[in-house]
Amino acid sequence: MSGAIEVRGLHYRAGKNFEIRDLNLTVPVGAIYGFLGANGAGKTTTIRLIMGLLRPLAGTITVLGRDVPRESPAMLAQVGFVPERPHLYKHLTVEEAMRFHAAFHARWDADMARELREDFLLDPSRPIARLSKGETGKLLMLLALAQRPDVLVLDEPTDGLDPVVRRDVLTALLDFVARDGASVLVSSHLVHELERMCDWVGVMDRGSLLAEMPMHSFKSGIKRIRLENAPAMLPEMPFVLVERDTSHRDERWLVRGWQAPMSQYFDGIGAIVHEVLDLDLEEGFVELLRAGRVTRARGGVR
Ligand code: ATP
Repeated sequence: MSGAIEVRGLHYRAGKNFEIRDLNLTVPVGAIYGFLGANGAGKTTTIRLIMGLLRPLAGTITVLGRDVPRESPAMLAQVGFVPERPHLYKHLTVEEAMRFHAAFHARWDADMARELREDFLLDPSRPIARLSKGETGKLLMLLALAQRPDVLVLDEPTDGLDPVVRRDVLTALLDFVARDGASVLVSSHLVHELERMCDWVGVMDRGSLLAEMPMHSFKSGIKRIRLENAPAMLPEMPFVLVERDTSHRDERWLVRGWQAPMSQYFDGIGAIVHEVLDLDLEEGFVELLRAGRVTRARGGVR
C-alpha cells in the first residue's frame, strides 16, 4: 500500500451533464492533502465515491488498502468523515449525538470527546437543531476526531465558519494529526487555508484532476515565463507546459514542475527569457483552472 487513499481510473456520471472520467488520485500515508477545485468541480462527488456512498461505473478505490465499496464497513471503522452537509439527527442533544456516535466506533475516545466539547464551548444539553453553523462545524469535527481514525476525509469542514471558529476547528484537527499521525483529505475553496496546513495538493476541475503534487512543488513550481524567439515546434521539455500564449510580441508560457536549472532549456532552443514570475498558490490555482478550460475548449490534450 503506497497511499492512504488510492483512486485509479475512476469513472462516474451524475445526471446528464457531469462526469468524472479516468480520475487518479493518491493521498500518501501521513499526508494532509488539500483538495482544491472551483464550485461544481466534482470534489464532493469524488469524496462520496471514496466514502462508498456512490458506486463508480469503473475504476478502483482503496482506503488503507481496503477496497471500496466491497470492504466499506471495515474501511469506515478507520475513517473519520465530515460531510459537506451535516448528517446528524436534529432532535438529539450534543451529548446524545456523542453517545450515539460512540456506539458505532470501537476506538471512540470519550475523554478526548469531552475535552473537545469543553474546548469548543459546546453545551451538552443543546439540541442539534438549535446549534449555530459554527457550533455544528465544531461538533462535526469533534465526532470525526474522537473516533481516533487513521484517515480523515473532510469536505469543506470550515465552510461558512467565522475566522475564530475556523481556527478552533483547524487547531483541533492539526493537534490530532500531530499526535496520532492520521492521513487527511480535506477539500476547500480557501486556498490560503490549505496552503498553511497541507503538504500535498490536488486540483480538480470539471471532473478531472488537473494536478497533484507536494505543496512545496506546487508553490515553487508554477511560473509564468515571458520569452521570445522560441521555435513553433518545441523539443521535449523538462517541465510541463500548461499554456503557451503567443498572442503578445513576447510569448507568455505557464509552466509547472519548474526548477531553476531548467532555464538551460531555453538556451538550447535559442529563446531569450525576459522574466520568470512566481505565482502564489491562489494565482497558480486560478491559472491552472483557466489554462485547463482553454485547452479543453480547443479540444486539446495536456
Ligand atoms: P462545490 O465546491 O460547489 O461544493 P464540488 O466540487 O464539490 O462543488 P460536486 O458537488 O461534486 O462539486 O458536483 C459536481 C457536479 O455534479 C455539479 O455540476 C453538480 O450539479 C453535479 N451533480 C452532483 N450530484 C448530482 C446528481 N445527483 N445529479 C445530477 N448532477 C449532480
